Amino acid sequence: MLDILFASLSLALIFVFAATLFRFRKHNKKRAVERHHYLRGLNYFLEDETDQALQSLLDIAESSPETAEIQLALAVLFRRKGEVDRAIQIHQALMSRKNLRPEHRVKAMSGLGEDFMKAGLLDRAEMLFEELVSNGVASNKVLDYLVSIYEQEKEWKNAINSALRLERQSEVRMGKRIAHYYCELAQEQIRHHEIAAARDYLTQALAKDPECARATVLDARACEDNKDSYGALKKFKRSLEQDPELLALVIPDIVRLYRLHNDEQGLYEFLRAGLDGRNSLTMGLALTEIYQKREGNPVAVKYLNEHSESHPSLAGLSMLLHFVDSDENPENLLTEARRVVKRLQDKQSKYCCQQCGFAGQIHHWRCPGCASWNSVKPVQ
Ligand SMILES: [Zn+2]
Repeated sequence: MLDILFASLSLALIFVFAATLFRFRKHNKKRAVERHHYLRGLNYFLEDETDQALQSLLDIAESSPETAEIQLALAVLFRRKGEVDRAIQIHQALMSRKNLRPEHRVKAMSGLGEDFMKAGLLDRAEMLFEELVSNGVASNKVLDYLVSIYEQEKEWKNAINSALRLERQSEVRMGKRIAHYYCELAQEQIRHHEIAAARDYLTQALAKDPECARATVLDARACEDNKDSYGALKKFKRSLEQDPELLALVIPDIVRLYRLHNDEQGLYEFLRAGLDGRNSLTMGLALTEIYQKREGNPVAVKYLNEHSESHPSLAGLSMLLHFVDSDENPENLLTEARRVVKRLQDKQSKYCCQQCGFAGQIHHWRCPGCASWNSVKPVQ
């Protein structure tokens, strides 16, 4: 997104240079000096030499201070250089002009809002951007800024309104983000046990993004708050259909609810079916416990060892050691435990890039992740 903004900003500046150059060309005898400054400025700009481009623009601005385009371009260059105060001054001076053309006023207001954002004055940026919205002249960029301001301020209703407006006037699809804003609102209501209000927001979240697993998980928690544990279990399971990656997050709740219903058989069938396609640590450990209860220690240990083969983990190791206390032949279990430790060691990354976090088993003098030299170091 920033790339696109930067590219469009650069294009706009090139356009200002070129348009003014064209105007000078019509009076080339009178304005030869300005034209020279312009060509030089355009070159500097194209070569990305902000300081020199800025100086050229200042030279021209001095001879024709009334030209709004030049002032606008100057302000952008000042902001880009980090001199936000000067950018603010220029934009404010422009806005105080009585005869400023409407399109220039809109640009000056948007620019001033961006200056305020850069200076960290979010509430002042918000006021300017909202004024542009109520005048019906907010660009996509302005709406995008508003959305991110409201996100930072956690003003979710305003974020939703701005995002919906952005969707209406552009190709940008905001459904997934808007669904999260509704979830934030729902979460607030759940905290205050206002379940009906929370449900209302969750329905709206799912209307914007039917695959929003977060809304379904929150709905499950709302069910529990309403003492509807069967409804909650159904919703937790539904969230896994929406996003299987959430497994580790919701499995403890699913196991807990099955046990609350004294439905060990249901839990067993669910875990067996779930483990067919993928392998989760929490599911594996829950299944081990069920085998222990149903068929005794040897079957449970055998299952745990198979599971640890492909998914060695500290939690699995701890469970294995737990069996040692009650086992008649603990030596076999300790041998297995040593194997798990070895597998865990092998799995651990030995080298890590201090620049980008790339991790692996082999040392590289040049990081395959970020191409930095000498940044991959042994993990201490
Ligand atoms: Zn790296």
